[in-house]
Amino acid sequence: RFNSILIANRGEIACRVIRTAKELGYRTIAVYSDADAGAPHVQLADEAVRIGPGPVGESYLLAERILEAAATSGAEAIHPGYGFLSENAAFAAAVEAAGLVFIGPTAEAIEVMGNKAESKRRMIAAGVPCVPGYEGHDQSDETLLVEGAKIPLPLMVKAAAGGGGRGMRVVHSAEGLLSSIQLTQAEAAAAFGSDVVYLEKFLQTPRHVEIQVLADGQGNAIHLGDRDCSLQRRHQKVMEEAPAPAIAQDARDAVAQSCVKACIDIGYRGAGTFEFLYEGGDFYFIEMNTRVQVEHPVTEMITGVDIVQEQLRIASGLPLSLKQSEVQFRGHAFECRINAEDAKTFMPCPGMVTTFHAPGGPGVRVDSHLYDGYTVPPYYDSLIAKIISYGENRDIALARMRVALDELVVEGIHTNTPLHRDLVRDAAFKAGGVSIHYLESKLAQ
Ligand code: ADP
Repeated sequence: RFNSILIANRGEIACRVIRTAKELGYRTIAVYSDADAGAPHVQLADEAVRIGPGPVGESYLLAERILEAAATSGAEAIHPGYGFLSENAAFAAAVEAAGLVFIGPTAEAIEVMGNKAESKRRMIAAGVPCVPGYEGHDQSDETLLVEGAKIPLPLMVKAAAGGGGRGMRVVHSAEGLLSSIQLTQAEAAAAFGSDVVYLEKFLQTPRHVEIQVLADGQGNAIHLGDRDCSLQRRHQKVMEEAPAPAIAQDARDAVAQSCVKACIDIGYRGAGTFEFLYEGGDFYFIEMNTRVQVEHPVTEMITGVDIVQEQLRIASGLPLSLKQSEVQFRGHAFECRINAEDAKTFMPCPGMVTTFHAPGGPGVRVDSHLYDGYTVPPYYDSLIAKIISYGENRDIALARMRVALDELVVEGIHTNTPLHRDLVRDAAFKAGGVSIHYLESKLAQ
């Protein structure tokens, strides 16, 4: 259905998508801001189109400029990567309206899943386990107070249109409920343009476990198992692994099956991730991401499935290349997100990388756009490299990550590599199954 793909992104994910697209014989078109002129994704693509100055609001977030670039280059499809316009329903609709293929779900699916109360209602209907709470349409104070009183304390007030860890508040006492609802409504109206809120039980020490799915919109859906992304700082994932350690196989299978069923129920198309909190042996759905995720390589390592390749197949109108029974899980994988930031203060640290040496060897994969002399621009996410390790079991994968991190050299700027080197030697992390609060409490020591 298409022969050329414009990649509406930059950095490592643009390189990642271009590599698979070229492998499959597609013509690839990069877009770049002035800050990314000559960047690796520009070099890797067959063609490149300038879309504006460095700031994202003048380049990568401008849907019109992306569509113009597609028109001038004759691109027939657009891959949005992650971040930027990848979960923007209006952008997906505009791409399709321009007669191009959006490599992702329908605009309607993005919209439904972007509303966290609506997506929760759909998940409950499909039988996906959710955090108990209230996600109804009635937003009157009376109803919210009555429903809130039914939820054990502490509870959370969350903005239906919220995202990026913003628009949520923990309530510890019944007296505090109304003011928390009103504060969250006011903040949500200002930040997200909608004051709709929902309520749910606050889980005290959960893990973050997510399920990767693929669906072709033709009645076929499969899952590629789970990932554990509990190592987080300020709700940002730092290190991920697949499969999630120490979870009973039947619980794992049941939640993954419920996600597959939900994909069929909602007619989902594309790659997607169902995010759950996992506590006391139970899964609780929190949200769905309708795009490829930063941490997708750990799943690729243990399944051998190229998730970007499946995205391209699905977008071309082909059925999934494999059935659930053909998905084989083997071994264990970790991913460390290397960020250009101060290892202690976590302040972003853009600037010139004087030396970059990537680790290698058996079971080591590096997804990065770095090279000696590359300048990390100040405008974008601080992710500069993903170090991924694979092993026949968790211990081997972790040992390989330790060696890989010791081999990694990034000079000229500060990175969080010291934190990762510390984490792979941390006794609790090595044992497996720490909660989402573990990293912050370790850092506070
Ligand atoms: P966002 O869309 O802003 O990322 P999420 O609903 O995915 O919001 O929640 C982000 C994070 O907030 C979760 O990873 C978890 O750490 C915390 N969180 C969300 N809901 C709950 C809950 N019910 N109980 C405890 N923590 C929660």
